[in-house]
Amino acid sequence: MGQPTSPNLRRRQLLRAMTALGLVGMPLPALARTGVQRVRMSVDGDTTRVVFDMDGEADYSMFHLQSPDRLVVDLENARAIEDLAISDNPRSAIKAVRHAARNGSDLRVVFDLRKPVEPRSFVLMPAQGAPHRLVLDLNAGEAIAPRVAENSNGARRGRSQENLRDVVVAIDAGHGGHDPGAIGPAGTREKDVVLQIARRLAERVDSERGMKAVMIRSGDYFLPLRERIERARKADADVFVSIHADAIANRSVQGSSVYMLSERGASSEAARFLAQRENQADLSLGGVPINGKDDSLTNVLLDLAQSGSLEASNTLAERMISELHRVGKVRKPEVERANFAVLRSPDVPSILVEAAFISNPSEERKLRSASFQSSLADAMLTGLRSYFSTHARPGTLIADGQPDQHIIRPGETLSGIADRYSLSLAELRSANNVSDDRIYAGQVLQIPRDS
Ligand SMILES: [Zn+2]
Repeated sequence: MGQPTSPNLRRRQLLRAMTALGLVGMPLPALARTGVQRVRMSVDGDTTRVVFDMDGEADYSMFHLQSPDRLVVDLENARAIEDLAISDNPRSAIKAVRHAARNGSDLRVVFDLRKPVEPRSFVLMPAQGAPHRLVLDLNAGEAIAPRVAENSNGARRGRSQENLRDVVVAIDAGHGGHDPGAIGPAGTREKDVVLQIARRLAERVDSERGMKAVMIRSGDYFLPLRERIERARKADADVFVSIHADAIANRSVQGSSVYMLSERGASSEAARFLAQRENQADLSLGGVPINGKDDSLTNVLLDLAQSGSLEASNTLAERMISELHRVGKVRKPEVERANFAVLRSPDVPSILVEAAFISNPSEERKLRSASFQSSLADAMLTGLRSYFSTHARPGTLIADGQPDQHIIRPGETLSGIADRYSLSLAELRSANNVSDDRIYAGQVLQIPRDS
């Protein structure tokens, strides 16, 4: 992939990218961003307290990354007024802090941890001369669940049920238009069956509480891979699911597979995205370079975007695989990794589902059948439910909404769930017409309201 060097060519490419991203003609970003004045840290026993002093309020979310352990705090519409630094304290859970601008208007702060922590967070309004504050208490010595987005619902004010958003599932039917994809022995075209499966999945996603589908391609036309990613990003997709049907010379091979991007593939493409984004920021500031730290900034963002979304992609892929097992043969029980261009979104968890082998005569028949297409869509929806039960971002109905439904997470028990909602096991069973305690991850339970 040789990069063109001619400035004219590059300008043209940038313009094309900006047009595709809908950035041309957009107003300049609002300047009234919340400023983070400093980050303070104190240690009390096993608890490390971090305080962000800010000149206003900011919505925030946080999540963990592992190996090495990091805690990431994203502040919406915020910026660092000064370089954020903490004094070194070997008793604290934090080794170092880094920060970088994100998405043009947000601030990402990364804490390198000495050990895993259990974070709690809350916000404080200005009082007694102290400014707006975001407080994190990091408790070492408590086990943490792997990269579960922390729901900061308790700490958020003015967040009612109505302004919680739906999670957005970008559904990408592979190929289209002049690109038929693989063709089965009986002439079935991949582009047609994957669009049918995508439509069935979109229907289900749209009728799910707290989820919304965005079809990347809704008809029989061709879209370049980059355009598909850009459409998903423009729709603020929480996940990207690309649907395909495999083909191979050996016609006896069958089964479904789920892919995610290999890390090798991500780095070059993610770097490209970042370069684009930085160029846009550059342009929107009137051509003035922001500062001289582009390399370290790029590296921080790259590292974060990749490890975050690859880890989430892996979880999503795993949840999908365990559901696809119910529908038919899964070719490989583990997530496969490959360098698919369409999965190279640095910040949207992305997977590619090869639903079945269109080159296998019996699977080709199945791929055409409404019942198999429906079972596939059902399985993928259950996989999505299971994924979002642990990975929905704060501010979504699934993460922060007042539940009248509970999506079962791996490892939960019926009696544990009953406890959590202060119900008796019998009440929970009868509201859901279940007679025994057999439940599965992703299953939706109705939570009866108090009368
Ligand atoms: Zn394909």
